[in-house]
Amino acid sequence: MKIKSNIHHEEAILKIANLKTAFDINGTYHNAVDDVSLSIKRREVVGVVGESGCGKSVMSLSIMKLLPKQGSKIVGGHIYFEGKRLDTLSEQEMNRIRGKDISMIFQEPMTSLNPVFTIGFQVSEAFLNHMKISKKEARIQSIQLLKSVGISRPEKMMDEYPHQLSGGMRQRVMIAIAIACQPKLLIADEPTTALDVTVQAQILELLKEIQDANDMAIILITHDLGIVAEMCDHVIVMYAGKMVEKADVDTLFYNPKHPYTSLLLGAIPKMDEEKKELSSIKGIVPSLNEMPTVGCRFAARCPKAMPECTVITPILAEIESGHEVSCLLYDTSMPKEGMGIS
Ligand code: SF4
Repeated sequence: MKIKSNIHHEEAILKIANLKTAFDINGTYHNAVDDVSLSIKRREVVGVVGESGCGKSVMSLSIMKLLPKQGSKIVGGHIYFEGKRLDTLSEQEMNRIRGKDISMIFQEPMTSLNPVFTIGFQVSEAFLNHMKISKKEARIQSIQLLKSVGISRPEKMMDEYPHQLSGGMRQRVMIAIAIACQPKLLIADEPTTALDVTVQAQILELLKEIQDANDMAIILITHDLGIVAEMCDHVIVMYAGKMVEKADVDTLFYNPKHPYTSLLLGAIPKMDEEKKELSSIKGIVPSLNEMPTVGCRFAARCPKAMPECTVITPILAEIESGHEVSCLLYDTSMPKEGMGIS
């Protein structure tokens, strides 16, 4: 597990407060992200964990202002980057920040790399968009950058197209593009999910090296708690758009409180086991228009559900210093008898 850095005196570079992002379904807006708050400091890695449909990616697209223009909007909360409000910035102002101060990498680079342009063109663009340098200088810097992300023959790759590269190489190129301007914050959305285990480990190692070298903060979005253990300082567990648990990584692994977190931890494969899928948690995340409006959103799948869970909505509350949970099992105003708190 990662050794925690001594960064608590520093100000957060990104602060999200009570973010609500909604999508239009048949004329009604439903919150895909519902009251999410997080903050991240320089050099910190915060993991955001949960199954598909939990709102993790919607949260990152909200930060980047990359939500679909039609049918989605931020309906509540604030996003601050270095004290500046992002959610109210114009498209033009956001363009200056995107790729320069905050970058993002996605799960499948084939969808983010343009298939009709060479790798060299696309990496050079990352420099030319934000720096006043010549095309020749951008090419020289691109070659150096590709080398720094572990590409052994960068000159050759400059003239190749995305389809000529392996998945791992494409992801390295995406990382190169994302870090070209040395962003202060990198949002990595399932950066290794499409890769095999060996390449996955190499890419995570590369991200760690870059983070160390550049003092970069990373928001790592993943469904894989194994990756969180490797990489993160703090973790947020999301379920159906809500934060259900928030803790430092050691606390989350050694003292998980929310039943959903415990099930996610149970889905991590042991050394001698075949890889388990998260589908080993029975049931599915409710779709946006079927979300319970009252009670706990996890109730239908929770092995510890009580009758109260469908009528009382749990609230995220601190149960010990730095450890927050949203579950009626830990609501001190509830009668404890027979609740089976472990
Ligand atoms: Fe389970 Fe109830 Fe806690 Fe929800 S509030 S996680 S249903 S015990």
